[in-house]
Amino acid sequence: MPVCATCCHQWSFKETMRAMYTLKPSMTCPNCRQEQHLTSVSRKRGAYMPFLILIPMLLNAFFDLNWLTLFGGMALIAAVFHLIYPQLIELTDKEEPIW
Ligand SMILES: [Zn+2]
Repeated sequence: MPVCATCCHQWSFKETMRAMYTLKPSMTCPNCRQEQHLTSVSRKRGAYMPFLILIPMLLNAFFDLNWLTLFGGMALIAAVFHLIYPQLIELTDKEEPIW
């Protein structure tokens, strides 16, 4: 789980999920209320998400999957990513460029 770069508060899974689904590019620490930013490594990990969801479509080109398997696989990958990604988030108090 992410740890605040300012106060070292370890965010809970619920706090992390709530902060992930806001429109702001930064996340507000629930403990000290300071703005936190994803590190460039965390942002790169998040950028892989759209490519992971496309894996069933790639497999469909070779194995001719039915639509339920195709969309079920995409939903499963998205769900697994959303459960794992909050545990991989690292925070910093300075905004870093992604590349
Ligand atoms: Zn904090």
